[in-house]
Amino acid sequence: MASAYELRCRECGRRFGNQPLSICDDCFSPLEVQYDMEAARQTFTRAAIARGPVSMWRYQAMLPVSEDFVPTTPTGMTPLLAAPRLAKRIGAANLYLKNDAVCLPTLSFKDRVVSVALAAARNFGFDTVGCSSTGNLANAVAAGAVRLGLKTYILVPADLEMAKVLNTQVYGATLVRIDGDYDRVNRLSSQIAERYHWGFVNVNLRPYYAEGSKTVGYEIAEQLGWTLPDNIVVPMAGGALITKIRKAFAELIELGLVEEKKVRFFGAQATGCSPISTAVKSGADHIEPQRPKTIARSLAIGNPADGTYAIRAIRDSGGWAEDVSDVEIVSAIQELAESEGVFTETAGGVTTAVAARLYAHGKIGRDDLTVLAITGNGLKTLDALDGKLEERPAIPARLADFEALVAEDQELKRLAGGRAALAVEGSYVR
Ligand SMILES: *Cc1c(COP(=O)(O)O)cnc(C)c1O
Ligand SMILES: [Zn+2]
Repeated sequence: MASAYELRCRECGRRFGNQPLSICDDCFSPLEVQYDMEAARQTFTRAAIARGPVSMWRYQAMLPVSEDFVPTTPTGMTPLLAAPRLAKRIGAANLYLKNDAVCLPTLSFKDRVVSVALAAARNFGFDTVGCSSTGNLANAVAAGAVRLGLKTYILVPADLEMAKVLNTQVYGATLVRIDGDYDRVNRLSSQIAERYHWGFVNVNLRPYYAEGSKTVGYEIAEQLGWTLPDNIVVPMAGGALITKIRKAFAELIELGLVEEKKVRFFGAQATGCSPISTAVKSGADHIEPQRPKTIARSLAIGNPADGTYAIRAIRDSGGWAEDVSDVEIVSAIQELAESEGVFTETAGGVTTAVAARLYAHGKIGRDDLTVLAITGNGLKTLDALDGKLEERPAIPARLADFEALVAEDQELKRLAGGRAALAVEGSYVR
């Protein structure tokens, strides 16, 4: 059962009921979903949650969906994996991965936000939905809309990776490639949503959409036996995920599901698009927009909608932010795959590389319980590994040739100091 909820302005507190709207028309601040916390005390308990489905919908009482909402896909409840081998490589001792690389249906954490946004779209009676996207959101909206019978228009920058284009079109969505970067795509989306009365998940449905991110936080707490970690490292694009995980932990404390604890939030970006980490590191309160240039396209938002809130969340928590180069991102993708068997996309490479740096600089204590938010699947950004992995010539189907190959392989590994002989530039660990 869902608790009562409505939109409220984050700054002036004005109430807006429930409607497809993301900005306060009095003070132009973003709107946010607020719940009846007294009612939630009855419905959002550990026991009630345990009776729910094995998906993010077990937290339905604290999501903005109507009481008669019936989920069509078991999104969320992704594994929380202990990561002892990666920990050893980066100087950590108590490290976990929240693995949204295997989130259903489209293998990124965007499936969570989209499922909440589409439930809201249905509630508001939209027959057409859309989004502006750097890729993963496009995939999630296209797939999610199919099972709700909604028509879909998806706007993306023209230079998007092939895998993300195909993973959108295959669901029958109309994919509109726009000449320009994400921020231009987003501006056009706002105009379209207004003119045609369509539900754009990250525009007029944004307050509902963003709530879906809280489920990452709820799951981590439940998977840690209803306790909170010491630290969490989160990749940032628009900055919603990191602020919503913080909101989730605060709600769990307020409702008595976990003991009070100060969790430190660490934000991760690619240096080629780092408006939030740059602000955190320089002590600024506001975002200086950037023009993105990085292989981490899923994080390439130069003017992040929740940027100032992300800065505040990081600073108030006692955390920090860092950014890493494209070379470090690729190296970290390989490190994570080799050490823990998890193949992540470029955003996960950003998180892993940033975590390594935070440990190296002593920003995160070695023995702290730290969770890395791995948010997307490596199969979507195969081009990031182009030319990084050696392809050996084919050999004849003869045992002798196989044995010669093994001998050569062992020699290469010996020269590389025990690691597989990968062509990694600028490896940052040891
Ligand atoms: C969108 C996205 C993020 C960041 O989400 P924000 O809420 O916009 O900060 C992180 N990782 C992946 C894979 C994404 O697609
Ligand atoms: Zn306001």
